[in-house]
Amino acid sequence: MALKPRILIVEDESGIADTLQYVLSTDGFAPVWASTAEDAIAQFSAELPALAVLDVGLPDLNGFELFRRLQALPGGKQVPMLFLTARSDEIDRVVGLELGADDYIAKPFSPRELVARVRTILRRSARPLTTAAPAVTAPANTPAIWALDEERRQIRFYGKLLELSRYEYGVLRLLVQKPGRVFTRDELLLQVWGGDNDSFDRTVDAHIKTLRAKLKLVAPGHDPIRTLRGSGYALSEELPETL
Ligand code: CA
Repeated sequence: MALKPRILIVEDESGIADTLQYVLSTDGFAPVWASTAEDAIAQFSAELPALAVLDVGLPDLNGFELFRRLQALPGGKQVPMLFLTARSDEIDRVVGLELGADDYIAKPFSPRELVARVRTILRRSARPLTTAAPAVTAPANTPAIWALDEERRQIRFYGKLLELSRYEYGVLRLLVQKPGRVFTRDELLLQVWGGDNDSFDRTVDAHIKTLRAKLKLVAPGHDPIRTLRGSGYALSEELPETL
């Protein structure tokens, strides 16, 4: 069974705390209740909750000060916090948000609304942990001009996967990594062919030629590889963003 997310409720009014514990536990959370700031700090230190709900009006410390103290504890900044405030004036809200709290709810509130808010915050805060940025990213609608995936040894050109031979991939990979940089034939031979003495300048030229033909199929009318007479090749930096 998956571990239920622990929700720390800091609220001095037992009626409200009871209601919150009830709705949260029926919704699959594991609520824990602290009636004072001191108790909250102790519980928070003992085990970091997935989220903390803080009443602003507490007997021993106001919720904003408690928020600062909880944030200062080890791991405290990673815990989303939601303020409960009985004062509906804007100042409380603004102050709450300027502190960097994730949200606030003005009393009186519907317990269902609070649970929905808790769910939203947890979903939002979980995102950076669950989705590590992939090596190659391209916006959904406009693919990057070049996308290099070294793990798969693949290169996309305007979103289209190129079918490349081993050496074609090796040459284009170098060019794509440093657009505009001029690579001499000797450099390409050394880095792609490993300085094989049997290889000649013509080998490089032949691969550039087949590469160009493949790129032309994707982007007719454009030549992404510039030839610098006497010196070598470079990736053009003058391609349009989209075709
Ligand atoms: Ca209170």
